[in-house]
Amino acid sequence: MSFETLGLAPALLRALAEQGYAQPTPIQAAAIPPALEGRDLLAGAQTGTGKTAAFSLPLLERLYVGNRKPTQPKTPRALVLTPTRELAAQIHENVRAYGKHLGARATTVFGGVGINPQIDALRRGTDILIATPGRLIDHIQQRSVNLSHIEVLVLDEADRMLDMGFLPSIKRILGHLPKQNRITWLFSATFAPQIKALAAEFMKEPVEIQIAKPNSVASTVTHRVHPVDADKKRDLLLHLLENDARQTLVFGRTKHGADKLAKMLGNAGLRAAAIHGNKSQAQRTRALADFKNGKINVLVATDIAARGLDIDQLPMVINHDLPMVAEDYVHRIGRTGRAGAEGLAISLVSHEEEGLLRDIRRLLKQDIEIAPVDGFAPSRPLRTDDGANARPTQKPRQGQGRPGPRAPRHGHANNAAAPSGKTSRKRRRGGGGQRSSRPA
Ligand code: AMP
Repeated sequence: MSFETLGLAPALLRALAEQGYAQPTPIQAAAIPPALEGRDLLAGAQTGTGKTAAFSLPLLERLYVGNRKPTQPKTPRALVLTPTRELAAQIHENVRAYGKHLGARATTVFGGVGINPQIDALRRGTDILIATPGRLIDHIQQRSVNLSHIEVLVLDEADRMLDMGFLPSIKRILGHLPKQNRITWLFSATFAPQIKALAAEFMKEPVEIQIAKPNSVASTVTHRVHPVDADKKRDLLLHLLENDARQTLVFGRTKHGADKLAKMLGNAGLRAAAIHGNKSQAQRTRALADFKNGKINVLVATDIAARGLDIDQLPMVINHDLPMVAEDYVHRIGRTGRAGAEGLAISLVSHEEEGLLRDIRRLLKQDIEIAPVDGFAPSRPLRTDDGANARPTQKPRQGQGRPGPRAPRHGHANNAAAPSGKTSRKRRRGGGGQRSSRPA
């Protein structure tokens, strides 16, 4: 499945290639074709599934492709309602990125900031209005917005808007929209009876789409944390990869960091490549193909780049850095242990990441083995006592480390005693043989 086969215009395809999107996510594949046909949609999908593009792309296509000139050039033709200012800003950013070759005009209105600049922006004219319900009501009251030419209404995170008490505002806003020739796309993680009632009242025979919760963690995955000082992470990563020749997806937090890791691994003789949003489509496609056919064993990715990557059945994922959002851990690990296969999820965790680790353990509701690696034990043990019912086992892993001073049981290692990774790498290079666990 490709974006081309979904029937999107070349200007959108170009923008998507520039974003580095290789293929549509499941919600995009399911929602875009009926949306382009002008059907109403009732879509069950949560954040992280690519739902913003699932509605933004058909929206842009409907507004700008085919030379449909608006009769009222200053009046918005599409309205996106979303619960928070952060989401509104994010949608705006996405619409701008996807619509950059179409001359798309979007304006955002949300509360907590002055209303006058928003009034000025609305006066100058916009095609797409992205709004939180409360502030949009303010604009309706001040008559600074005209909603009588809205052709497409998107209700984003409808369940959250209802949880936040926006139902009366939404109903009021709906009263200002045209009833005829309007298309409505409702996105929601859950479908409480109130949402179904809203859909029944305001939508016409919607196409119902339900996307499964993305990448739930398989029970066949072993989760392991190697506590380590931040400045030793790279050496530990190299050490682990040199001793395990399996195909491994490594996650870094930033594009720059992913590049540096791939380079460092390459310099050490491993076959590695990086994949992230700054790489061209051709580079991404090649790295992925090389990884799949075994030409390279290590692919270093950022969270965003890894989304929508069609890699399945991976034996091992290593988090060089923990993700900032616990849910992303689930996305990352969802690529291993599928279909009953064994999977290993290793995270290199420094003290700075204790809070993130706590969040992940809470989300997983699962014990995670905490295992310092000989020679890489951190200067002090990780604090994991969070009442999340997990019992860490902070004992050094035997057999994983090189010969050298054993890490003390509770991490009172002093750095002088533990060999620094740098020294040990030099030693290995000198000895020559230890890299040979991977084919050259
Ligand atoms: P959302 O669920 O809309 O919040 O999107 C989650 C993230 O996935 C955003 O950072 C998007 O930029 C990214 N994304 C959306 N669609 C794709 C795609 N087809 N391929 C890769 N990344 C995508």
